[in-house]
Amino acid sequence: MSSDPAPSPATSAITAGRAASGRALAPALWASSTWESESLDDAHRRATSVRHGDFYSRYCNPTVRSFEEAIAALEGAEESLAFASGMGAIATTVLALCSAGSHVVAQRQLYAGTLAFLHGPCARLGIETTLVDVATPGAFAEAVRPGRTMLVIAESPSNPLLELADLDELGSIRGPFTVVDATFATPLGQRPLDHGVDLSLHSATKGIAGHNDATLGVVSGDADLLADLWAYGVLHGATPSPFDALNALRGVRTLGVRTRQQNDSARSIAVALGDHPSVGTVHYPGLSDHPQHELASRQLLQYGTVLALDLGDRDAVVDLLDRVELCRVATSLGGPETLLCHPASSTHASLDESDRAAMGITPGLVRMSVGLEETTDLLADLERALPPR
Ligand code: PLP
Repeated sequence: MSSDPAPSPATSAITAGRAASGRALAPALWASSTWESESLDDAHRRATSVRHGDFYSRYCNPTVRSFEEAIAALEGAEESLAFASGMGAIATTVLALCSAGSHVVAQRQLYAGTLAFLHGPCARLGIETTLVDVATPGAFAEAVRPGRTMLVIAESPSNPLLELADLDELGSIRGPFTVVDATFATPLGQRPLDHGVDLSLHSATKGIAGHNDATLGVVSGDADLLADLWAYGVLHGATPSPFDALNALRGVRTLGVRTRQQNDSARSIAVALGDHPSVGTVHYPGLSDHPQHELASRQLLQYGTVLALDLGDRDAVVDLLDRVELCRVATSLGGPETLLCHPASSTHASLDESDRAAMGITPGLVRMSVGLEETTDLLADLERALPPR
């Protein structure tokens, strides 16, 4: 038996998901939407197998499968299942596991698309949602209605305020399935399954793909549960494109070095802006005075590539966004360019003012996704764009 230590996840990411590549170092792009059958018996076997790779791309695609295998390796999961977007992953998961009359417990501080899905289509279909505050200990478990609650949904760190759900607490809930949207952490920054959570979910559009060139979602967990998601997903049809899976798999190769640089910069920026007179609260779990810093240190493997700043009012945000030159104004996160967004006008624009206020999203809040630029250049850009000290 080898006594060599297992390679670190960042090292595994360089070759993960390569089982089907033979001697090629890069995975093949299987653009085909369909495969020939040898006979009717063979067609029947392919049509009735779970995730047969050579049948029809909505059921399974070898390039997508390579991406899924890479993510499963990084998540420490039996299986992963990819979707056409993060929302495709969320919608499929909820609708695969819930029916009319089901109850869902969800975190109040969620990406607005997830909230809109729960409050719109899910409510219309008779799936009821109870929202809980993520920072209240025991809130998820207390809201569970035995026999009725099918799903507990958390997002950690949350969009846009980087609030954390206690993953050990979630993992100890019995009865409903637990799912954590871990998009903001990437699989190198957090492993929800290690805490006993049933499903770890990502918008792979963000840090996993990492280059703003793929729209993709992925869910990881036990093979049996993922087979259920797959069976519904084949009908729901939020199927990933093999082109996007190829781009995302290329992104996975450099996930370690990208997130390390982005984490280091994010932390430096959070510290530097923490004492800027024009910046109010800096939300970043890596700061020692962050209210959940102890929890962050316990469950995050990296503090993250995103931070949020409160500038006081909307006018101050408009000034900053007008004056930055290196940082760009766009939604999304985890890519090579540093992006600034105003959640009240973009990611959370669909909510009304009072719902945003209940989530802590003020008119002066700016979210920053830190990219791969040199930290000194980013700091110089921000110092120039903010009012002088
Ligand atoms: N989950 C989180 C935390 C997000 O921030 C987003 C999008 O911003 C999504 C899910 C949805 O992902 P996608 O845009 O890939 O559908």
